[in-house]
Amino acid sequence: MALFSTTGIRGISNHDMTPEFALQLGYTFGTFTGKGKKILIARDTRTSSEMLKNSFVSGLLSTGNNVFDAGIIPIPVVNFSVKGKYDAGVMITSSHNPPEYNGIKFILSNGLEFAEKEEMKFEKIYASKKFKLAPWNEIGSYKKVEILSAYVEKIKTLVDLEKIKQRNFKIVADVGNGTQTFLIPQILKEAGCEATILNYSTDGFFSRIPEPRPDTLIRLIELVLSKKSDLGVAYDVDGDRAIFVTENGEVLMGDVTGSLLAAETLKNHGKGTIVTTVATSSLIDDVVNNYNGKIIKTEVGANAVGEALLKSNAIFGFEENGGCVFPELSPARDGAFKTLKILELLAQESRSFSEIISELPKYYQAKARVECPEKKKHFVMQRIKSLAKELKQKTDITDGIKILLGNGSVLIRPSGTEPLIRVFVESKFKKDVEELLEKWVSEVKRIQ
Ligand code: MG
Repeated sequence: MALFSTTGIRGISNHDMTPEFALQLGYTFGTFTGKGKKILIARDTRTSSEMLKNSFVSGLLSTGNNVFDAGIIPIPVVNFSVKGKYDAGVMITSSHNPPEYNGIKFILSNGLEFAEKEEMKFEKIYASKKFKLAPWNEIGSYKKVEILSAYVEKIKTLVDLEKIKQRNFKIVADVGNGTQTFLIPQILKEAGCEATILNYSTDGFFSRIPEPRPDTLIRLIELVLSKKSDLGVAYDVDGDRAIFVTENGEVLMGDVTGSLLAAETLKNHGKGTIVTTVATSSLIDDVVNNYNGKIIKTEVGANAVGEALLKSNAIFGFEENGGCVFPELSPARDGAFKTLKILELLAQESRSFSEIISELPKYYQAKARVECPEKKKHFVMQRIKSLAKELKQKTDITDGIKILLGNGSVLIRPSGTEPLIRVFVESKFKKDVEELLEKWVSEVKRIQ
């Protein structure tokens, strides 16, 4: 079985993700990098993260690599800190998965996670079990390091902090019992915000479902409304995604805040390229056209966005799940910096968050998950492709198939990790959305 899924190595703690497995992954990673390297490691707040980290570190030390342990830190801080200072980074986390899960993400010296090429090399070493353990006098060293302050100093130089401070924003931040608990309160304080922090215990028992979505942020919405806040924000456990709530309690998915920040970035640069995935709303096409920008649409996944961003020298990248990439900082998603950028944008306006959002073109969206066994996925997708051809509509096959309609689109994608096919529709007209979803869900069911 392949070690890597679309989101790195993940599994259930003490079932798949055991100390023995983490040790082997440590051997593998150390053999992959070669001895004598500087490796930065950090972890999230899960109950199993310290256990897995210790095992992984042992494996790494035994391969003659020097380990620098940053403790519990949001992954964007690791992505940022690796560049120029370390040979690689490692994060023990499984991001937005339930508390019983854990995983490991590997970060290259450019700040991006492993791409397919590195994954294949890693899997080969793991499968061969030919680990290069060092002789006694070349075993690696272990040191604790503090990496947060250099990161905080850097991000403060990349926004107009004085302007944000003048507004004394009232904000509710749901840190989701995750790594942002150790960063966001400090940042909001330095930004002069009157902040209420929600879900800040870090014992590994999560008070809400870790993925920030409209249905998991009910308490945040209640608090934003009852405290008459200017905005709310929520993070996932490793802190690379941020989802915002307006003063009216409306949850804004990453399409909307990403498009808003893309518009702002294009305005400031005068031109440039924006990178996003095919799963993002057509809202971004409207925004990019409006500001004479260029757009690159990649397959779904944060790394695809980061790689395209580096390759194209783009000025901004984002995903519909709330991840945003700011190349002036790092090629990886950053939830805390996104928060500062949204505050900076609001600080330049006299209008409320919801008023600013209301000026963007409105698209209605709906999603469905249709069960489909792994072995039938390919056949179903082929049939959907020929159906789309018969309809004589424009299509995009970067990832799954996206059928481009005049006022909206239909995206049909097989899940990379589950026996499911995802159907995502959007339209400028509310009634079309329901019709389109019903039509394509029944097609996917009928074909099987
Ligand atoms: Mg994450």
